[in-house]
Amino acid sequence: MIPYSTQSIDNSDIEAVHRVLRSGWLTQGPALERFETALAKKAGAKYGVAFNSGTAALHAAYFAAGVGKGDEVIVPALTFAATANAALYLGARPVFADSDSQTGNMSVEDARRRVTKRTKAIVPVDYAGRPADMRAFKALAKKHKLVLIEDAAQALGATYRVKPVGALADMTMFSFHPVKSITTGEGGAIVTNSKAYADALRLFRSHGISKDGAKFIHKDKGAWYQEMQALGYNYRMPELSAALGESQLKRLTNFISRRRAAAKRYDTLLKKIPGLVLPPAERAYEQSAWHLYPLRLAAHLAPKRDEIFAKLRAAGIGVQVHHVPVHTHPYYRSHGYKKVHCPSAEAYVAAEISIPLFPAITLTQQKFVIKTLRQILSAYLV
Ligand SMILES: *Cc1c(COP(=O)(O)O)cnc(C)c1O
Repeated sequence: MIPYSTQSIDNSDIEAVHRVLRSGWLTQGPALERFETALAKKAGAKYGVAFNSGTAALHAAYFAAGVGKGDEVIVPALTFAATANAALYLGARPVFADSDSQTGNMSVEDARRRVTKRTKAIVPVDYAGRPADMRAFKALAKKHKLVLIEDAAQALGATYRVKPVGALADMTMFSFHPVKSITTGEGGAIVTNSKAYADALRLFRSHGISKDGAKFIHKDKGAWYQEMQALGYNYRMPELSAALGESQLKRLTNFISRRRAAAKRYDTLLKKIPGLVLPPAERAYEQSAWHLYPLRLAAHLAPKRDEIFAKLRAAGIGVQVHHVPVHTHPYYRSHGYKKVHCPSAEAYVAAEISIPLFPAITLTQQKFVIKTLRQILSAYLV
């Protein structure tokens, strides 16, 4: 099976992890500090705070933004469930905005309609690695005094108006799950320019317990004293993961250029197959991280999507659909979202198939994907 995405691990990555295992330091040590510093630099931000998953990082970012009971957080319907779930963890209510019909990214117009006096934060997602329309979201956030958090789980290595993704929002989340731009096994991070946010994120990551005497509420207790100041979690990233992340980060530019080259090849070769809608070209001011190649079936083929999908899987192509619109999950349907409807996101997903795209994909594999698609679709020609 050719997977829709997969990690690339080489000897330099393996040696980096080996070095940590021999170092005697397995958590919250020098590898973490190096990784956080390098990540922040790469993403164009001052501070980097790593977590043991992207989801934990989102939870912490919403906490740092002050999201709590009774607040609303605007998230796209077309995303992975974690973007919305992290608001529920804090007793807040995710409010779903519909997506742009072509890019799949959150529609600025629809998000604007969802702002109420309870809205605390807005969370654009860089779907498939393509940057959300951050200039417009920044203006919207500023106007209504909302915290702007970018879910860039899929977009480490993307750029927008000459800046790296990471330099655009108040806080930006990256995921290091194996299918994402770089991997740490499991892992995630927030980058930010705000020291106050960075401090809150670090506190939240480690039980809400501070070791910084200058910040203690109870002073002069002695060297043994640590102080719990908020209800936090154990969301710490182990040194093995941080070392892998540091090593992978050095390969990021290469990963993205390979993903881009493979995407361009699909663009050229798929154009000739009738019945397909290709992802829209990148605009002059953006470069996608090409996390996915989200192919869509034309309107007359969309009702056959599941059949076509099954045939691709049967032929050994590990296609996937991204994503189940979050409000349509049974959990959301039975927790107050029974009547929510985001027609553009639903239509997008109903026609979508993500075909294999990862740094090490070969021309032979891509040609096999294309040949198989052509064969399968020929049965539906009218
Ligand atoms: C992968 C992903 C997440 C979750 O990241 P994990 O590291 O798997 O917890 C959140 N949001 C989006 C859009 C993602 O793609």
